[in-house]
Amino acid sequence: MITPWGFEDFDAHENLHFVWNEECGLKAIIAIHSTHLGPAAGGCRFWHYEDPAEALTDALRLSRGMSYKNAMAGLPLGGGKSVILADAKRTKTPDMLHAFGKAVDHLCGRYVTAEDVGISVSDMIEIRRNTPFVAGLPVEGGDVGGDPGPHTSLGVFLGIKAAVRRALGKDSLNGLHIALQGAGSVATGVAAHAAAEGARLSIADVDRAKAQKLADATGGKVVGTDEILTLEADVVSPCALGAILDEESIPQLKTPIIAGGANNQLARPEDGPRLQARGILYAPDYVINAGGIINVSTEYLLDGDASLVRERIEGVPDRLEQVWSESSSSGRDPASVADAMAQRLIGRG
Ligand code: NAD
Repeated sequence: MITPWGFEDFDAHENLHFVWNEECGLKAIIAIHSTHLGPAAGGCRFWHYEDPAEALTDALRLSRGMSYKNAMAGLPLGGGKSVILADAKRTKTPDMLHAFGKAVDHLCGRYVTAEDVGISVSDMIEIRRNTPFVAGLPVEGGDVGGDPGPHTSLGVFLGIKAAVRRALGKDSLNGLHIALQGAGSVATGVAAHAAAEGARLSIADVDRAKAQKLADATGGKVVGTDEILTLEADVVSPCALGAILDEESIPQLKTPIIAGGANNQLARPEDGPRLQARGILYAPDYVINAGGIINVSTEYLLDGDASLVRERIEGVPDRLEQVWSESSSSGRDPASVADAMAQRLIGRG
């Protein structure tokens, strides 16, 4: 959709904030897509973009994804996302994080930030110095909080099991081959859960040493990043970056299931129907990867304990089932079905 602004991914976002602090070198974009259900919540990504236009596209798409994710997870939160445009050396200083915290604070709680790719719990502590509108902070004892990654991994693992049940009629991952793209925070937890259930793993990461470490820990095998999506596997689980499913990659897939934690896996809306036409069951990314934001939301809103977080994450398979059932009965692909459900929930349907 081309909009009045000319940005292809603009989707009636409520606000876009461009942050520029010459002193510390901070360049960031904070995108608030919707506050219909509550404050716009979504992580901060720290990434080097060759072209700033890519950062804007990321912020626009990721923030819309957060509106959909939070709505589908039943959370009283809207959707937002921020990106910090790193230099080629990925220089990250405390001053930059403090300036980012100030920028978040200026929005008076309309946007709540947390970790995303390239941002750690210790970075969140720095950001928190200048704003209370932060989650994903370290916790002590049984409190809710900390790195959302393991919670995302749990939801993705449960979602993979639901997809396997639906597409392959199996209740266990024992003996199944799972191809994992990425060996970072989310992939690590998914691999641990899947290996504990007896799955056979192939793992690829642009950082081969990271892939090797995860393979060693889980009895998996390292494969090249150029072959991971084309392996003959029971499940391909994209857990790295987005836009990896497109008109080129989809025809080469040799799997009945795509179920992974990465945000924005489909390059374009037409890629949902493309997967469906190939008979591949797709778990819409923002439905399957909601575990982290469920934990963040419970931490920020103080409305539950760790056992409630787990219970909420255990709802991921049911929500996927709802999407797949409606897809079967309507004939529409799961990604379009999920989008329509989410749009209704945020008052845009
Ligand atoms: P991470 O930075 O810990 O890991 C990402 C990994 O992907 C890195 O090891 C990186 O080297 C690797 N990678 C990058 N490009 C690659 C490529 N082309 N092929 C193979 N590997 C590649 O990040 P993460 O927290 O694990 O997040 C992974 C994905 O899940 C992201 O899309 C993120 O937005 C999404 N996600 C994360 C969470 C969370 O709680 N961390 C929640 C929801 C969604």
